[in-house]
Amino acid sequence: MDNNPTILYVEDNPENRLLIRRILQAEGYTVLEASNAYQAIDLVKTENPDLILMDINLPEMDGYTLTARLKTMPKLSTVPIIALTANVMRGDRERTLEAGCDGYIQKPVDVDALPIQIIRFLKEAGHI
Ligand code: MN
Repeated sequence: MDNNPTILYVEDNPENRLLIRRILQAEGYTVLEASNAYQAIDLVKTENPDLILMDINLPEMDGYTLTARLKTMPKLSTVPIIALTANVMRGDRERTLEAGCDGYIQKPVDVDALPIQIIRFLKEAGHI
């Protein structure tokens, strides 16, 4: 990949972080990680991710609330936030979109499909 887009993955589960990090690094992405909402909010003050993968079930502040908060930050206005969640009950997809998420990827992650989904979201946002 030419200019190594940066992806921030917000996820409290270390095993999930390891899996996704391996997939994304193998595709040439720079990967930033936050294990909770407050880390994510701190990180985006100094880093400039091209895309954010957002776990929904996070401790203290959930991914819906965090997404809504990040979407108020002008520097993130063109950064797609993609919900990554095992919440498959009816209405969950709608709820991620209401919170301001730009898309939705269901857990468990399909490791072959993930890179294709990421490229699609980056292209839609004009980041590649
Ligand atoms: Mn979680």
